[in-house]
This record gives sequence, structure tokens and C-alpha cells, in this order.
Amino acid sequence: MDKYGVLKKYFGYDSFREGQELLIDSILAGRDVLGIMPTGAGKSICYQVPALLLPGITLVISPLISLMKDQVQALNHAGIHAAYINSSLSENQIRQALRLAAGGRYKIIYVAPERLETWEFLAFARQAQISMVTVDEAHCISQWGQDFRPSYLKIVRFVKELSERPVVSAFTATATAVVKEDIQCVLDLKAPQVLLTGFDRKNLYFAVEKPKTKDGFLKDYIARHPGESGIIYCATRKNVEKVYGLLKQAGLPAARYHAGLSTEERKENQEDFIYDRLPLMAATNAFGMGIDKSNVRYVIHYNMPQSMENYYQEAGRAGRDGEPSECILLYSAQDVMVNRFLIENKEPNPEYGPEEILAIREQDERRLNAMNYYCMTTGCLREYILRYFGENTAAACGHCSNCQKEFIRLDVTEEAKKVIACVKECRGRYGSHVIAGILRGSNTAKLREYRAQERESYGSLPELSEARVKQLINHMLMEGLLYTTKDKYALLKAGERSEEVLEGRLQVVMRLPKEKPQEAGEPKKPAQKRKSDILNSRGLDLFDKLRELRLVIAREESVPPYIVFSDKTLVDMCVKLPFSREEMLSVNGVGENKYQKYGQRFQEAVYGYMEGRKEKLYFGE
Ligand code: ADP
Ligand code: ZN
Repeated sequence: MDKYGVLKKYFGYDSFREGQELLIDSILAGRDVLGIMPTGAGKSICYQVPALLLPGITLVISPLISLMKDQVQALNHAGIHAAYINSSLSENQIRQALRLAAGGRYKIIYVAPERLETWEFLAFARQAQISMVTVDEAHCISQWGQDFRPSYLKIVRFVKELSERPVVSAFTATATAVVKEDIQCVLDLKAPQVLLTGFDRKNLYFAVEKPKTKDGFLKDYIARHPGESGIIYCATRKNVEKVYGLLKQAGLPAARYHAGLSTEERKENQEDFIYDRLPLMAATNAFGMGIDKSNVRYVIHYNMPQSMENYYQEAGRAGRDGEPSECILLYSAQDVMVNRFLIENKEPNPEYGPEEILAIREQDERRLNAMNYYCMTTGCLREYILRYFGENTAAACGHCSNCQKEFIRLDVTEEAKKVIACVKECRGRYGSHVIAGILRGSNTAKLREYRAQERESYGSLPELSEARVKQLINHMLMEGLLYTTKDKYALLKAGERSEEVLEGRLQVVMRLPKEKPQEAGEPKKPAQKRKSDILNSRGLDLFDKLRELRLVIAREESVPPYIVFSDKTLVDMCVKLPFSREEMLSVNGVGENKYQKYGQRFQEAVYGYMEGRKEKLYFGE
């Protein structure tokens, strides 16, 4: 069988996605690879397909114990012999697994990095035929990344211990240049084929909302998306409890997750969510590492995260199955202050010296600012994200909340000049709050104390509201006309290009949302289609029937429903209405093994529902 055969038979897919083939071909040719792809792009296929074609065993090193279990379950259900070895197993179970592995039982073995140096494991690995070592979440090897794991350094030593060097393949979703260099270098990859695919997730709709009340927005949003699975991320445990209470009170099927709960409760709640018993989850960012639930339809951030890195990772847990999904950030200025406080009071890592601590603090500040600008920008949100991660995009996406708003362009050059004059007059000794106060001519105790009234620029922008002045300052920060010092005072200074403005060589133009009275809670329609736009009412009804069947099977087999079939696969069944084996095998996500396991039951359900007649249950041609 070739790679296409494997893809169809075990995974039920007809074609590879962008980049997958290149990496698979390289691996099969014996070359190391480094795949940098965003969450949901399909990294697993890149090593699972060659693992089945290589003669020996593939070891997958992953830091995420919960993910291992899921992945192994999913593989087993696809008819692939796989196992995992980590601290969740007893000594006996480990010995048993290693015995089976030595006997050639498994093609793929997931293993935690700590395990690599135990003599038992080494003894096994030395005598086995290891064709490939795959390093998942490879950024954990970099000290510059956010998730450095010292145990990852063991991988290199381990590979050297093997009698024959296997192919080493590494995968991550972190794209910064330092991390990329680190992975190649520290992992000692040999002339690797490096692939960096676009970070764009086309099926995600991005929005920043500034609702009157976040709670109102949340309840309204969830009510408009019944039966869908969603995550609500909050900054603190307290907020999680609040949101959880709110959802419970509204009778919604919600679970919660934060570090203040016992290990058992966290595990239980996580499973309730994964198994779709409680499809809504209110959680801190402690939740989600290794959650591979593919049918999360929306991720709402109740509070702003501390960096774009965090945001994109958390928001990216929506729509892993490729179906249209939404990522909504609820903004309030207070969140910025809370985050700043958290950064300032972060317990420094005792391993670092004062200089490193300072460097980290500055980096945190920069990241927070970039996050804040994301909430402020009136430009395309997707473009902002991609630019942040170092990708140049052609144009506005048309599929984010900013692209869908109407804006007016406003020439604010004269106002900008006054801001610059004020900053200069104050010699960069104040932050944006005081500067805004001076410009507006506010009469507060603090300004009196600074004797602000005596300044020439005092009250030079009296007609603008405080919010508007701050918006202007933010815009100028984003344009590089101003900058802030990197300490905690964030003092405003005039940037290099400010001279050009003062000399009249540079115009300052702001995009402002058109003030049109929007009806309360009016849903903004994403351009891309959700299943309710694809299927007509009978189609949706069949979809629900198939979902029920999926749940029954999932319970019988004690696996999460998405391991049986993804939502996308069920939608495709409602479109294709498979009555025969051939037709069922043409459905996206139905491979031979899954067909043998469940195909018949779904086929019968479809046939029964349609009473043997084909009829179009979807819109479009
Ligand atoms: P990542 O590890 O990059 O976050 P996954 O490997 O979990 O992503 O893949 C995300 C989803 O995409 C999974 O549901 C997977 O089955 C699906 N997928 C991967 N490759 C393909 C493909 N070639 N065709 C269709 N679906 C795919
Ligand atoms: Zn856009």
C-alpha cells in the first residue's frame, strides 16, 4: 500500500492537505523533517502515515499525557496498533506494554520524555527496530519558548543511544525564528526538510466585541447557538466561577475547570466536556493543553489574555475539524490593567538572574501591548494576527468583525500634532492617562499636583472625549508616532516619525467604526457557512439523528464521540446520503476500518431516515 492507500484506509481522507505530502515524502526518503503548522492543520497525519509505511516502530514523544491517551484511542479505532507509555500507567502495565512492543505488536508508541532514560525503556529501544522518532510539541525543547521542558533535552541523548539512527521528525505550532533555530540545533536534526505552512485558519471567524455587559452578551450568544460546544476562557478562577454560575443558572449544560479544583474534579469535568455530556466549558488557561476535541464551535474570551501567542493558541481550539467556528474576544479596558498587575507581580523563576528577569518582564510587557492593540485596531483582525506571527498577507480577509464593520476614514493630523506637542512639552515623563488628562484640560487632584494647568498644551483638545483621546494615542502608538518606555510606568515618548507629522510631511488617518445604531444582540453573520447554512431543516434533523447514534456508539465503546466520527463527517453524510458501502466510503472521514466498525449502522440510519429515497437535504448546487 502507498501513502494514499494508508490515508484512505485508516483515516478515510482522499487527499493530503497543504504541506503534508512534502513532509511524508521526506520522511519516507529517510530525511529528518521539521513541520511548523498551526493547530488543526493536521500534523498528526504527517507522522502517522509514514509510521505505517516504515518497516519498524515509530516513537512519538509528547509532553501531554492526556493527549496520548486520546491519540492512541483514535488510532486504535482506526485499526492501527498503537500504545502509550507514561506515568499514568502502573509499573506492571508498563512492563506489559514493553513486552508487547518488543514482540512487534505496535507500529506507533507514544512516550513521555521522562521515560526515555529509564533502563527498562532503553533496553527495549536498543533491541527494537525504531524507524522514526517523532517529537511532538517540539518547541518544548527551546528555552526561549513559553513551555520549556528540561526533560526534552533527553531526546537527543536517547537518539544517540540507539544502535541505528532513526529518522527524526519534529512538529510544533510555534513559529518564532528563535524557537525554530533552537529546535533544529538542539534536536540535532540532520539537514531537515523544514516546512512552515501558513498560520491562517480559514474556518475561524475572529471578532473583538465591546458589549455593554459581558454576561448579557454571553447568555445571548449561547442561546443563539444551542447544542453547540464552546469554551469560555476567563483570566481568573473567580471569573470562571462567576461565568459557570451564570450558565448553570440559565440551565445550560456547562462544566468548569481551573487550578483550584481537585485533580479528580478537573478530570471529571474535562471528560464531561470531551464526551459532549456538558458541551460548554468555563475555564482558565489551565484548560486545553492537549484537548483534542475537534467539534468546538466557538471559543469566547471573557477576559483578554496576556499575549497574542496565548490568544491564538486558545482561540485555535475552535474548529479543529475544519468546520466554520468563531473566536470572540470580549474586551474591557479593565482587563488590560489586571494583566499588567499580573505581569508585575509574577513570581520570577528562581533559575534566572536579574538581567534575565528584566528581559522577560519587558517581553511580557511588549506582548501585552500587542494584545491590547489587537483589541484596539480597526484594521482586519486576521491580518493583524498573521502579521504578528511574521506572515505577510495580501489584503483584508472579509471574515472578521472589523472587516464586516463599516468604517469612516478620519484625518486626525491636527489632533496628532497636539498630542506630540504635549508629550514633548512634558519631556516624556507621563503615561497616557495623564497626557490624555492634560490634553482635555481635566481638573483632577493629580493634575493639579503636577501643575498641569501651567502647561501650554493644557486643554488643547477640549472637544474630544477621554475615550477618543485614548483611542488616538493608541492609534499613534500602533503607527510608531509614539512609543512607551518598557518599564511598568509605560511613559509616553515621541517616536521617530513624529517629526514628519509636525513638519506636515505625514498625514495621520484613523479608521473609525461608523456610528450606526445597531440593534441589540443582532447577530453578525460570518461569511463562511455553518452547518445550519449548508443543511436544510430536514438535513439538520438527520444530522441530529446521526449525532445521537454517534453518542450511543461512543458510550458503548467508552470513547469521546469525535473519535467515532467528526461533525464534518456527519454533515457530509447528510449531503451525500450514502446507501451503499461505496457511497459510505466516499464520505469525508470514513476509512475502511471505521466503515467496518460503524459504517453499516450509520448507513442504515441514513437509509431508514430517507426511507430509501434520495432527496436533496442541503442548499446550493
Ligand atoms: P494538529 O495536530 O496540527 O493540531 P490534527 O493532526 O489534530 O492537527 O488534525 C486536525 C484535524 O484535521 C483532525 O480532525 C484530522 O483528522 C484532520 N485532518 C488531517 N489531515 C487531513 C486531510 N488530509 N484531510 C482531511 N482531514 C484531515
Ligand atoms: Zn478581516
